[in-house]
Amino acid sequence: MPATLLDGKLVAQRVVSGLRPRVEALKARGIQPRLAVVRVGDDPASQIYIRAKIRACEQAGVLGGELELAASAREADVLARLEELNADSAVHGVLVQLPMPKGIDPHRVAAHIDPDKDVDGLHAINLGRLLQGDARFRPCTPAGVLRLLDDYSIGLRGRHAVVVGRSEIVGKPMALLLLERDATVTVCHSKTADIAAVTRMAEVVVVAVGRPGMLKGDMIKPGAVVVDVGVNRLADGRLAGDAVWDDMCTRAGHVTPVPGGVGPMTVAMLIENTVQAAECAAAGASECPELGVRR
Ligand code: NDP
Repeated sequence: MPATLLDGKLVAQRVVSGLRPRVEALKARGIQPRLAVVRVGDDPASQIYIRAKIRACEQAGVLGGELELAASAREADVLARLEELNADSAVHGVLVQLPMPKGIDPHRVAAHIDPDKDVDGLHAINLGRLLQGDARFRPCTPAGVLRLLDDYSIGLRGRHAVVVGRSEIVGKPMALLLLERDATVTVCHSKTADIAAVTRMAEVVVVAVGRPGMLKGDMIKPGAVVVDVGVNRLADGRLAGDAVWDDMCTRAGHVTPVPGGVGPMTVAMLIENTVQAAECAAAGASECPELGVRR
């Protein structure tokens, strides 16, 4: 039987339009949720990603704005801009689009964003809280993966999930979120001796490597759920994931397409985190009880 497509584009649209009532409720209290995206340099892929984020903001009724710094900007310039955004009470979510030019340390930049506005969930405080099982902003890509699986009623408790890739943005937080859902989690990376032997045991495989075709059909168990986070530009200009699409269609039980799988879900989670940040800012106190979120 062919694999069921996990349609991230469709689910993301539903998530984003589902945020409208929350945004309207904020507006009724005089609060316009606002996201600021900082771009440093002219990376064309970044420009495309930011446009998609701003479009999704518009769909939800969130104000999305892009702040551009020249490729020649120094780290101090980026930090100064972040300080302005941190101090601006009209801005609820702040993110710096990656990658940044060489010479700018992404850790120092992430550390400079007010944790209450860190809608990417990459500040050390927010990652630490995720580790402690007390997440406030879950990193958008792994959170989007879980939301997509939830939408298709794919349970995780007690299942063996394998994450291929261990970046701070995707692989590591993905493993933590899967653990939070009571999956049994294995993480593979570039030094793993026999990746195929590990992925073949998995009921759920999340691949986030950035190498087209690395996950082949004979590396998965028939019927497995395959979530392909990879986004790779092929020589002919097309986009492809990390998994071999035709193999997955015939062997997997469920599979995400690239494009149209995890990418739109990542954006949807960013907008949701921004709305949550605005709600928490509106709550004002040290608690944000309506969301069950401790600040
Ligand atoms: P990184 O380059 O930061 O991390 C890649 C990971 O893959 C590393 O942990 C690396 O291992 C591992 N790896 C590299 N080669 C191999 C190999 N041959 N076998 C096993 N593991 C390997 O990438 P990101 O996590 O940032 O992104 C991964 C992919 O996901 C990219 O294609 C990116 O474009 C895409 N992406 C998509 C998003 C979306 O919204 N759809 C969002 C973010 C990323 P090691 O640690 O040992 O070096």
